[in-house]
Amino acid sequence: MSNKLDSQNLASYSLKVIDDHLNTKSDEIVNMNNFIGSSLELEFTGDINCISCQRRVTKTFNQGYCFPCFQKLAECDICIVKPELCHFEEGTCRDNDFAEKNCNTDHYVYLSLTSGIKIGITRAVNLPHRWIDQGASQAIKVLKVNRRKDAGIIESEIAKSFADKTNWRKMLKNEAEPCDLIQQKQEILERAREIAAIAEIKIEESDDEITNIEYPVEEYPQKIKSHNFDKNPIVSGTLLGIKGQYLIFDTGVINIRKFAGYRVQIKG
Ligand SMILES: [Zn+2]
Repeated sequence: MSNKLDSQNLASYSLKVIDDHLNTKSDEIVNMNNFIGSSLELEFTGDINCISCQRRVTKTFNQGYCFPCFQKLAECDICIVKPELCHFEEGTCRDNDFAEKNCNTDHYVYLSLTSGIKIGITRAVNLPHRWIDQGASQAIKVLKVNRRKDAGIIESEIAKSFADKTNWRKMLKNEAEPCDLIQQKQEILERAREIAAIAEIKIEESDDEITNIEYPVEEYPQKIKSHNFDKNPIVSGTLLGIKGQYLIFDTGVINIRKFAGYRVQIKG
């Protein structure tokens, strides 16, 4: 599910599905916000295609990949999750072109507020999409570096003394603990300056602009029950809203990211 932030700071979501409205069964990108408040049915057809090479598979690895792609692609390497382990300089990167385009480029260390406060890193071009994917209600950039590895070194050091208190269930119930992002950012920056000096990383401190994000949700769930296409191919109900990567139905929630590559037919 891809997203963008509109001029009213509202998250807007679109999803590639099989649209059977005109009996054509063609792939279409639909705006999911349009379904909120209406009954909606999603049916997993049983077909799964690798999101990289498109081959048909029976299960996916790393959210959407076939096993060979999972073993071979740079985007599935451990250094994507743990960027401080980047091994580009050792000459063992799985794909130098990928690294030049995606890793050796501007990255931010940021703070976001979902259910609690979280420190993270992302490519500059991924903002604000990354924050919307998390279901963050607020976020602030802390600093910019010019490669992913440096962001990872700073983040992993700070994370040692900065507990990640985020919880997706609380995020979906809209139970955020209030927090002063600017004050937190100042504390993080102080620590980051020390780390950067030791590791000889050049950082560019970001301004104090806070991004506020509203989600298209009519009603937050009291209890969280999860739908799973592997257990039941039909997910239906009234769509109450969308937050993070979750569709919130009156019958339960579904994490769309988890089912990347699954072919789904939509009936509005
Ligand atoms: Zn593949």
